[in-house]
Amino acid sequence: MEYELIVIGTGPAGEKAAVKAAYFGHKVAIIEKEKVFGGAGTYTGTLPSKSLRETALYLSGKHEKGVYGIERGLSREATVSDFLYLKNFVCASAGAEVFENLKRHGIDIYHGTASFEDPHTIRVGEQVLRGDNIIIATGSYPYHPANIPFDGKRIFDSDTILEIDRFPSTLCIVGAGVIGCEYATIFATMGTKVYLVNDKDKILSHLDHEISEELIHQMRSSGIEILFNVSLKEVVSKEGAVTQLSNGQTLTTDMFLFAAGRSGNIKALHLEKAGVQTGPREVILVDNHFRTNVPHIFAVGDVIGFPALASVSMDQGRVAVAHIFHTRDLEILSPVMPLGVYTVPEVSMVGMTEEEAREVPIDYMVGRARYADMARGRIMGAKSGFLKLVFDKSTLTVLGVHIIGNIAVELIHYGVMLIKDRKNLYDVIGEPFNFPTLHDLYKYAAYDGLSVLAGHKIKP
Ligand SMILES: Cc1cc2nc3c(=O)[nH]c(=O)nc-3n(C[C@H](O)[C@H](O)[C@H](O)COP(=O)(O)OP(=O)(O)OC[C@H]3O[C@@H](n4cnc5c(N)ncnc54)[C@H](O)[C@@H]3O)c2cc1C
Repeated sequence: MEYELIVIGTGPAGEKAAVKAAYFGHKVAIIEKEKVFGGAGTYTGTLPSKSLRETALYLSGKHEKGVYGIERGLSREATVSDFLYLKNFVCASAGAEVFENLKRHGIDIYHGTASFEDPHTIRVGEQVLRGDNIIIATGSYPYHPANIPFDGKRIFDSDTILEIDRFPSTLCIVGAGVIGCEYATIFATMGTKVYLVNDKDKILSHLDHEISEELIHQMRSSGIEILFNVSLKEVVSKEGAVTQLSNGQTLTTDMFLFAAGRSGNIKALHLEKAGVQTGPREVILVDNHFRTNVPHIFAVGDVIGFPALASVSMDQGRVAVAHIFHTRDLEILSPVMPLGVYTVPEVSMVGMTEEEAREVPIDYMVGRARYADMARGRIMGAKSGFLKLVFDKSTLTVLGVHIIGNIAVELIHYGVMLIKDRKNLYDVIGEPFNFPTLHDLYKYAAYDGLSVLAGHKIKP
């Protein structure tokens, strides 16, 4: 079987690469080792965790509480199958849609684990495929340190936590990155007492410090205990999950979740037969066009490491195809990428943090607007949350946008345009928005910035 392109993996990176190449008229094969399609993006990472978050907010009545001033409390009848219902539905339907999309574009689909025979030849079970070009999009798996006895009953990773058969009353999470923080807030919203073990002195250190501090405050208000500068020594599964920490403390919790690190899925590929170079944590090394050291072999998505996001992985797949088939559409990744963290509350950012502006150094200033001061914020019952614009003091150009609060991950996209188009505060003020909407946050933050600049600002 001869193909112009063989793609290994049907996650966000592989699917988008294969579909784009087929759309441009090329003969494409895709290989998937699992029975289901869509990879971690659909089954174990992005969509399931976001669905659980939505369910937790619904079952807990957390949003309505702000609006009607009444504590609905966690719906006591809610069972673990209620908790998992939406997740299962979303994953199954999104996985089916990936399969349909591949079929619709006339892509040949092979089931089985792919491995290289030589730089152009891939074996899938008994079948042998030859590709002029190959894209490796095999994703990543949760890293398992030796001192944690993962059992899928008490001791979980971010894959197995999706299959719990009861709610934990208490949960210890090790790793305060995006995945750890998201699950901490999901379970806390469901009423679980959560301990978040973090070996640093802040959480999500790439966030603007003020946003990160506010997130810590909000997490603590929802009962999450964050332990800073503490690392894990050992976990044992006994009557509960017994976690020994570097500060001598022992935590005994109902369940334990390890959410610190993933490694590239390369073991089964036999990359040595193709001569493809790899780096630490089993990542494949690529250039800016996602080409490996073997010119016709590309790698995209989590298997190349940072930033390991579905959003970016999809574009990496599309960029690789642009270089393979000279489609002249998307030849480089956008240098301006938003980051969304689906904690409760949501956090999103684009551009420079205050700390980064200071480091350059740029003479910057900041304007802020609070959800609770916006008409739409009041209607939504927002008690907290704010948007912060970091701008250049002399040109008023927006350098960074940072949001914490409801639908922050949606609101950020106007911020992306501001940064990409190098807009300034007057551009923001002149923008026509519907009313009432949370986009008003941008205008009021811009006015706030101007009044700080003019010295009118009365510090709260
Ligand atoms: C808990 C969690 C939450 C996340 N939340 C977000 C989020 O909110 N937003 C976001 O943008 N990103 C999020 N991510 C990251 C996102 O899921 C990944 O970046 C994305 O799935 C990577 O896509 P991929 O195509 O590279 O790999 P994957 O989605 O992992 O897909 C790889 C596919 O390759 C297949 N495969 C592997 N080896 C072989 C082989 N040898 N032969 C055949 N098939 C093979 C696998 O079975 C899999 O289907 C999250 C991740 C996790 C774990």
